[in-house]
Amino acid sequence: MFIYNTMSRSKEQFNPIKPNRVKLFVCGPTVYDDSHIGHGRTYIAFDCIARFLRYQGYSLFYLQNITDVDDKVIKRAREKGTDPLVLAREYERRYLADMKALGVKNVNLYARATEHVPEIIVQIKILLEKGFAYETETGVYFEESKFPDFGKLSRRKLEDLTVHRVDPDPSKRSPGDFALWKKIDKQPSWDSPWGRGRPGWHIEDTAITEEYFGSQYDIHGGGLDLIFPHHEAEIAQMESASGLKPMVRCWMHTGFLNVKGEKMSKSLGNFITIRELLQRWDGDVFRFLVLSTHYRSPIDFGEEALIQAHNSLERVRKTLKKLDELLKSNLDDEGSSNVKNIEIWDEAHKKFIEAMEDDFNTPQALSVLFEIVRNINRQMQNEIFTKSSITRIKILFEEWGEILGINFLPGEKQERTDDVLNILLDVRNQLREKKEWELSDKIRSQLKDLGFGLEDN
Ligand code: AMP
Repeated sequence: MFIYNTMSRSKEQFNPIKPNRVKLFVCGPTVYDDSHIGHGRTYIAFDCIARFLRYQGYSLFYLQNITDVDDKVIKRAREKGTDPLVLAREYERRYLADMKALGVKNVNLYARATEHVPEIIVQIKILLEKGFAYETETGVYFEESKFPDFGKLSRRKLEDLTVHRVDPDPSKRSPGDFALWKKIDKQPSWDSPWGRGRPGWHIEDTAITEEYFGSQYDIHGGGLDLIFPHHEAEIAQMESASGLKPMVRCWMHTGFLNVKGEKMSKSLGNFITIRELLQRWDGDVFRFLVLSTHYRSPIDFGEEALIQAHNSLERVRKTLKKLDELLKSNLDDEGSSNVKNIEIWDEAHKKFIEAMEDDFNTPQALSVLFEIVRNINRQMQNEIFTKSSITRIKILFEEWGEILGINFLPGEKQERTDDVLNILLDVRNQLREKKEWELSDKIRSQLKDLGFGLEDN
């Protein structure tokens, strides 16, 4: 498998530190507002990457942080007259619900910054002891010039960086130095060897990754905008604290979701929240739109792109539905075309996997999928399908759908849900006949939690 590494600006063969195990960290959201579909783009891309790594047999630990304390959270809480941590919990809950609605289900652990303050303090202490950081009356800062590699990810020279930056904090030795700890008395704040305060932005990620992964791991991801200064700062912190290089084997960055050529962002006001989008469109349609573009390329978002994604997805679903009808129509299971058909599908699957192994090339994988859809439609006219070839195709689309996180056979799922429900209802009726009220009521109330109302009459 080959993955593009931002550090080397080239595709590299993927070799995790421990064979068959992958530690993946992706920067999570700052929870002060609802997430927009630009965030959705990045998290869908990494969800698909996680799915494929698992499909390939890797035992994957996918970690994401939640930035639940920072200036934006505090400012928004003040505007709303609420406590910053209460506000952060509410937006975290909404973020997780949005992710679920988009089929983003592969993160093993969400780690909140506020729950890792002791680990953050330990890392800052080490940086101070080793002479990479200094304390002033306003906080503790990382001294950029002490880390000669600063700029290696973004390929910027330290001199250029420092000269162009203007910083209002006069207590820093150089404008490029960044805060590890901010001395602040107001809530939310924590005790530390440097008085009450709260962590800087960059340090939460390295403290969290060191806690769960150690000082070196396999993949670090995020949007392109995080390369500088955030990821650069992370490298400086972690490699200085541990003395080990490189901090990660592979840096992966997603391209932006743009609107009329500009990055969708809260500050530009050109955003649509995930919630707004999902009121009008199926989550699978948005996933389809996102995965139709390679994760490193920009997406030009607009209503037309959504309509196109919707139509393409419908084309696949309709084709599979027609096949299903054929399957139910007492089709023969023998026929000379049988073997040849299966070879075609196996060959297509091979191509699909090869595309994914080539830096998760989802547009290429989707073009294999559409070639097959065209092929099926052509063959349907010649009526050369057999039961086993249709079953093979359905398995193929189920597998591809699992990798991409898109349900190509929605009717199928509904039918199976109905079947499972019928089994449950049958068991419950038998329980009622035996007057096992407690258990039968439990089934009813748990079904209600899932949105299925049940009335006995
Ligand atoms: P933030 O909460 O702003 O730190 O963003 C969370 C993640 O979403 C980061 O990895 C960002 O790079 C990514 N992101 C933000 N805006 C966009 C966008 N318009 N397109 C793609 N990714 C984005």
